Amino acid sequence: MILPADTHALIIGGGPAALAMTGALRGEGLSVRVITPHAPTAFPATYGAWLDDLPGWARSCAAHVWTDVRVYTGPEPTPLLRPYALLDNARLLRALLARASGSVWTCDHVLGAQPAGALWAVTTRSGVTYRAAFLVDASGHHPVLQPPVHPGGAALQTAYGLTARFERPPSPPGAMVWMDHRAPHGPHPHPTFLYAMHLGGDRYFVEETSLIARPAPTRSDLRGRLHARLRAQGTPPGEILAEEWVSFPMNAAAPAAHGPLAFGAAGGMVHPISGFQVTAALRAAPLVARAAAAALAGGDDPHRAAWAALWPAPRRAERDVHLLGVQALLTLPPEALSPFFQAFFALPAEQWRAFLDPGTPAGTLARIMLRLFVALPARARLPLTRAALARPRSSVTALRAAMKVTSRVSHPLHGAVPQAERMTHPDLPLDDDTRDHEDTSQTEPVTEGMQGSTGSTDANGLDPNADLGEKVEELRENLRAMTRTDR
Ligand SMILES: Cc1cc2nc3c(=O)[nH]c(=O)nc-3n(C[C@H](O)[C@H](O)[C@H](O)COP(=O)(O)OP(=O)(O)OC[C@H]3O[C@@H](n4cnc5c(N)ncnc54)[C@H](O)[C@@H]3O)c2cc1C
Repeated sequence: MILPADTHALIIGGGPAALAMTGALRGEGLSVRVITPHAPTAFPATYGAWLDDLPGWARSCAAHVWTDVRVYTGPEPTPLLRPYALLDNARLLRALLARASGSVWTCDHVLGAQPAGALWAVTTRSGVTYRAAFLVDASGHHPVLQPPVHPGGAALQTAYGLTARFERPPSPPGAMVWMDHRAPHGPHPHPTFLYAMHLGGDRYFVEETSLIARPAPTRSDLRGRLHARLRAQGTPPGEILAEEWVSFPMNAAAPAAHGPLAFGAAGGMVHPISGFQVTAALRAAPLVARAAAAALAGGDDPHRAAWAALWPAPRRAERDVHLLGVQALLTLPPEALSPFFQAFFALPAEQWRAFLDPGTPAGTLARIMLRLFVALPARARLPLTRAALARPRSSVTALRAAMKVTSRVSHPLHGAVPQAERMTHPDLPLDDDTRDHEDTSQTEPVTEGMQGSTGSTDANGLDPNADLGEKVEELRENLRAMTRTDR
C-alpha cells in the first residue's frame, strides 16, 4: 500500500538522534512521521555527557552531575575540573517527545528507500510505503539506507559495564572517573581502562573500556578483565543491578552529500576519539532542521541543504584530522597509551576540551595534535609518526585543510552558520565558544609545537608551491627531526 505524502518529513529511528531531529523539524513548523520498530522507549544505553556540552533544555535531564571528575594515568588523579552528567534516559525521552509533539509515530521496520519524483518513498516490513519530501536516516550504528565508510575498516569501542552494590567503593565516592588507566589486574595486549561513577550510597557504575581497537576485545574478554580488576583492588561487586555491553564503530567518515540525510550514529557523528555522539545530535538538530525547512520553503532539495549545514568544509576537515588521530591511536603500543593520555590531559584544559569537542575547527585540532606530539615521550612519538607517514595523502590533506581555516570559521554544532554554506543568516556573528577555540583573525603567529613553522598560521612548514609528493617529503623531514631520539 502506498500512502500519500501526508508529512513533510520521514525520520527512520526512535533513538536520541531521530527524536532530536523530529523535535527540531516540528520547531520549524514541519509535519513529521517517525518510523521505528518500537513504541517510544527510554534509550537502553548509559549516556554520559559533559554538562556544558548539553543544550540548555537537556541539562535538566541529568540524573547525576559530578564536579569531582578525574583521570588516572598514574597513581595520582588528574582533576578535569569540568562537570560531567549521567543522563536520565526516561527524562530525556520525555523532553524529546515534548519537543516532537504533533509528530506521528509509526511502529514499523524500514526496509529501504527510493526516490519517487521530488519525494522519497520508504518501504517497510508491513508492506506500507510512506513518502515525504525530506527523509532522515537516524537508524543508528548500522544504518538501514547507506552503509557507512570506515577508512581502513571499522575500529570499535567496546566496553562491559555493571551497575552494582559494593561493600567497598570500587572508585572514589562522590566522584566520576572518566579514565583509570591503572591496571591492578596486570597488563594486557589490548589496553583497557575503567570508566566509573558513584551513583549514591553503595551503588556504582563500573565499565571496563577499550577506547578504540581493530580488532576489538570481546564481551567475555572485557567482562573477565572488569572482574579481575575489581578483585585485584579488593572491591568485588555485591548485588549486580544491571549489565551493559557497548560495541560500536568510532571511525565513520562523513557521509555522502547525495540521497537522504544520515543523522546521528547513522551519519558519522560519533566523535572518533571519545565515542560521544548524543550531545552532538542534540546540538546539531536545530541548525540542520532550519536549513532543511528553508530549502523546502524555497523549493530546493532539503537533503543537500541539511547536509551542507551539517558538514560544511571546515567540519569535514575537522573529521579528517580526527580520523588521522584515530589512525594514530590504533598504532600506539599498549604501554604507550597511558603516557599518551598523561600528555593529553597535561595540555592546557581548554586544549584537551577543544580536542574532545565535535565543534572544534580543524586548524585548532591540528595545532593541538602537534602540541601533543611534541609533549609525548619518545616511545609514543615513533608509532604516531609511522601512522602519519603510512597515510601521507590524508596526513597532508588534513594538515593543509587544517592550516587553511578561514577567518570566519564556525561550526553548526556551535549554532553559528559557516560562511561558505550559510543559509538564512548571512551576518550571524561568531559565537563565544568558537571565538574561544579559534584564532579568528588568523594573524596570530603560531610557532609553538609546529616544526617548520614560519611564524604564521598559514604556515604548516610546507612550501605552498611544492607538489603533493614534495610536501610529503617535507613533512617526513620535519617529523624526522622530531623523532631523531627514537632511532
Ligand atoms: C551501550 C552504549 C553506550 C554509549 N554511551 C554513550 C555515551 O555515554 N555518550 C554518548 O554520547 N554516546 C554514547 N554511545 C554512542 C552513541 O551515542 C549511542 O549509540 C546512541 O544511542 C546513538 O544514537 P542514535 O539515535 O544515532 O542511534 P540509536 O540510539 O542506535 O537509535 C537507532 C534507532 O533506529 C531504530 N532502527 C534501527 N533499524 C531500523 C529500521 N530498519 N527501521 C526503523 N528503525 C530502525 C532503532 O530501533 C533505534 O530506535 C553509546 C553507545 C552504546 C552502544
